[in-house]
Amino acid sequence: MTDSSADPTPDATLPELLLALQAIDTQADQLTHRRAHSPLRDEFTAASNRATQWERQRAAFVAAIAEFGASIDRAEAQGAELLEHRQRLDRQLKTVIAPREAEALMHEISNIEAQRDELDVVEMDALEQQAALDDQLAAHLAEEEAITGALSLADQALAVESGDIDAELERLARSREDVRSSIADSVLTTYDRKREALGVAVAPLVGRQCQGCHLELSAAEIDTVKTEAAATGVTDCPDCGRLLIV
Ligand SMILES: [Zn+2]
Repeated sequence: MTDSSADPTPDATLPELLLALQAIDTQADQLTHRRAHSPLRDEFTAASNRATQWERQRAAFVAAIAEFGASIDRAEAQGAELLEHRQRLDRQLKTVIAPREAEALMHEISNIEAQRDELDVVEMDALEQQAALDDQLAAHLAEEEAITGALSLADQALAVESGDIDAELERLARSREDVRSSIADSVLTTYDRKREALGVAVAPLVGRQCQGCHLELSAAEIDTVKTEAAATGVTDCPDCGRLLIV
């Protein structure tokens, strides 16, 4: 990680202190932005979404397989009832003498057989679909390791990066306090107000150009800021209002 915020020496001038403070705050802003907009965070989110999607699909397969299982059980229970009924009718048939009664029983038996055939078709169909889903679930489960592995890697990478950034932010926070403790409260108040309004509160004057707004000061303005900054080395940029280091 770059270190653009070397702590100023104890006898640093106000311009040096302000530039150091601004450098620290800018670096902290950049790190905070990088932490929030890390490509690793996007990768983690994508991996996490894939894992959620995978789990949802797995649950859907399991539920569908269970549903077919339940309809197979129902068909088998109904089939057993029908068989029992048929066996009862078979026994009855052996005891009847009247042809019309026998005919009625045989008609009933053939109805039951038709129902059993229908149930067999339903059950076979459910078994086939369940077997197909079993295969799809097995293929789906084979992806689990890759899905969870990718999620875990993305999680770790993000955690490492965030940890590094947090450590750097803590270091910057300490440097920031050191620098601020060397600056008068009234100047800090001005700095904080300008930083809140403008993002960057301090800008050096290079040649005739303010490095905050990049506007050129007129010859008269140069004279004015030089007079104003004579004592401390700092005044306000007449164009953007930043603390101008002259
Ligand atoms: Zn300016």
